[in-house]
Amino acid sequence: MGDLPADWALPALTPFNEAWFTSGRLAVQRCAACATLQHPPEEPCHQCGGMEFTNEELAPRGTVHSYTVAHYAVNRALHDAVPYAVVLVSLDDAPHLRVVGNAPGVPIEEVRIGLPVTAYWEERVAEDGTVLRLPQWRPA
Ligand SMILES: [Zn+2]
Repeated sequence: MGDLPADWALPALTPFNEAWFTSGRLAVQRCAACATLQHPPEEPCHQCGGMEFTNEELAPRGTVHSYTVAHYAVNRALHDAVPYAVVLVSLDDAPHLRVVGNAPGVPIEEVRIGLPVTAYWEERVAEDGTVLRLPQWRPA
């Protein structure tokens, strides 16, 4: 697999994105006031302005809504990973939610709009010892 190298930059955790990047699940926000599902995680709710959320686990399945191919390694750590597809995935459980991720190791000629995909998680340990679980995608 053409997984990204371990020293590739990790996302900075916030109270809003922590569940997404550490749970190993597709944990999206559900507004406590109006029940709207929202991703990417942020405050407030885009539907009603509510500021309280619970996390809702969605099935790790979706369809490629759009994609692009990274040919250029913006960081030396990516030299062995390019080319790879960056996919925008519409989730089966909530098609209006679209999740950006990578499809490392998937031949780019196999990636197309409408491709059914499934999520898996790559573990990374941050310098402070926090274990991050980064969702990635591959053909279902
Ligand atoms: Zn709301």
